[in-house]
Amino acid sequence: MIKYVPQMTSVVMEEIPDKVTLAVDISRCQGTCEGCHSPFLRQDIGEELTPAVIDTLLGRNFGVDCFLFLGEGDDPARLLELAAYVRKRHAVSVALYSGRPAVEDSFFQVFDYVKVGPYIPAFGPLNVPTTNQRLYKVVRHGGESVELEDITSRMQHRGTDSSR
Ligand code: SF4
Repeated sequence: MIKYVPQMTSVVMEEIPDKVTLAVDISRCQGTCEGCHSPFLRQDIGEELTPAVIDTLLGRNFGVDCFLFLGEGDDPARLLELAAYVRKRHAVSVALYSGRPAVEDSFFQVFDYVKVGPYIPAFGPLNVPTTNQRLYKVVRHGGESVELEDITSRMQHRGTDSSR
């Protein structure tokens, strides 16, 4: 099961370049980032995120062109199912902010944007040049062939606190 925190759901302009993004905070984070900005997201809080909930959220926010999972939770198989559902059912991009150093190749089959890397205070968040985090745009060439375009530098004139 994937759970999200309804009260934190919002439309954002800064997390994914050139996108109007519906950002959904995922709880039950398994990360151990030093200086975690949201320790409560490690707890079992919020409500289940289901295809029906996704339909409702996107229906209420007509005009967004990206759905962002802020975190992975603790059920990667279900996360991939939900991301695939968004791709299939809605004409929006699908994005993930992961706190892991890397994700499995299967993630690049369903997500259009993937941020990887734990938040490390000494290196700073995604919007500073010293960051260890990377934001990739997934470029598809047909079939399962993908190319990862590192677009991290496009975040570095922004004020985003991308520490998740
Ligand atoms: S991924 Fe985000 S919520 Fe999880 S430990 Fe790291 S900073 Fe905290």
